Amino acid sequence: MDFLAVEGLTKFFGGLAAVYQVGFTIQEGEIIGLIGPNGSGKTTVLNLITGFLKPNAGRVTLAGKDVTGLPPHRMCQNGVARTFQLTKSFPCCTVLQNVMIARTYGRDPAPNLRVAADEAMDILGVVGLADKANFLARDLTLMERKMLELARALAARPRLLLLDELMAGLNPAETEETMQLIRKIRDSGITILVVEHIVKAICLYSIHQQGYRYLFSPFPKSPAQARDVFEILNASIPEGERPTKVAIFQETTDWGIELGNLWKENAPKYGYQVVVYETYTPRTEDMSAMILKAKEAGAETLLTVPAPPDGITMVKQMVELGWTPKFALMIRAPENVTWAETLGKNGDYFTIFPGWHHAENFPGVAELNAKYQAQFGRPADLLTGPAYACVQIAAAAIEKAGTLDREAIRDAIAATNMTTVIGPVTFNTDGTGNVLNPLIQWQNGKQELVWPPEHASAKLVYPAPPFDKR
Ligand code: ADP
Ligand code: MG
Repeated sequence: MDFLAVEGLTKFFGGLAAVYQVGFTIQEGEIIGLIGPNGSGKTTVLNLITGFLKPNAGRVTLAGKDVTGLPPHRMCQNGVARTFQLTKSFPCCTVLQNVMIARTYGRDPAPNLRVAADEAMDILGVVGLADKANFLARDLTLMERKMLELARALAARPRLLLLDELMAGLNPAETEETMQLIRKIRDSGITILVVEHIVKAICLYSIHQQGYRYLFSPFPKSPAQARDVFEILNASIPEGERPTKVAIFQETTDWGIELGNLWKENAPKYGYQVVVYETYTPRTEDMSAMILKAKEAGAETLLTVPAPPDGITMVKQMVELGWTPKFALMIRAPENVTWAETLGKNGDYFTIFPGWHHAENFPGVAELNAKYQAQFGRPADLLTGPAYACVQIAAAAIEKAGTLDREAIRDAIAATNMTTVIGPVTFNTDGTGNVLNPLIQWQNGKQELVWPPEHASAKLVYPAPPFDKR
């Protein structure tokens, strides 16, 4: 029997279908992830399961019992606890009092305050907050507030625990620590639904090393991005003219660290030398120190993976400080179509590895571009191809499986061997895809495909003209 079964769950807010016909199952002892961008309805699904909202249609079954639309306190008594995206502790109570309240009013409540206090202390030990027991909740750090939120949910003695973006805002070390804690909680017999908003993990390789059974990603990963940049440069530029002095500006996030280290490791293998390796935290306003270091070191190549606002800050300050790398690979920030509008000519010649470009001549691309053109007035944007390929792969797998059984579809996806709009796709056992990794360069305010040559819409412009000569 499914431990939790959700079928046809639907919720309208006025005319907006926030959740429409959602269905999934969770088996006892599983950790299941629900991911999606902001506004895709993840929190609403949790609100519908836990009774904070009543669905317009659909059914929620817990251990075989229909619990659709039961109010939150009844769901709590049935063993369903959740954390909130915006933590909801009592700010003026102590950490211990917050957990005691949950221990007193949740499922299987403590018989008296003394027992509640003892058990609350045990729970604080599990989440690593024992030494903060007498702090006021409002004085905690973000990580500590998230752990208190988790402690309060655990105090309700759940059988099913729903975590709403528990890891959002945490740094990589805190995230890893929290994931270990989540596994430990599962091992203690609690089934877990993890809701996260982790779209940037699209290129992250390390996530594929964690043994997720249902993680398949037809997108180039960090190891390919860290290798291909040097292979493309060496294949496109004659020896002696290559931009062998490299500056790496590493963002202090899981993806930034992963890529930074791989670039550093690969550079010497291809005849490149890392002359500057600097780190910065997301949303840094002043990047001048690291830019000046790169300029003084005579760096010719820039390798970096900034979020859009940081990429724009970086370029503006490079312009001000007069440092133009001959070649710049800036993954992520320049993917956005607004890059050229914001930066004008200064946004030109930056290159990206976005996984796809509308000039690729694979079957189905012309039709996709035509439909996109009709709807949005331009050929399909960079990430459209990989997204569409995901749907092609899923559809083919469902057809091949001939059933909606989760394992059968999973196995069919694992065995994928087909040509999609991004080209041929197969998967490795860790869920990473074997896919083309095209290089795109901004030229005259347009994204051009410059590698591989058989698909190219333009030649790589090298070296990039200095900012003040454009
Ligand atoms: P997510 O958690 O995936 O970011 P939400 O479930 O919070 O998404 O929201 C899904 C959509 O429903 C959004 O467009 C949001 O604005 C809307 N929405 C959520 N809650 C309400 C509400 N109580 N009233 C009206 N609209 C809502
Ligand atoms: Mg949410």
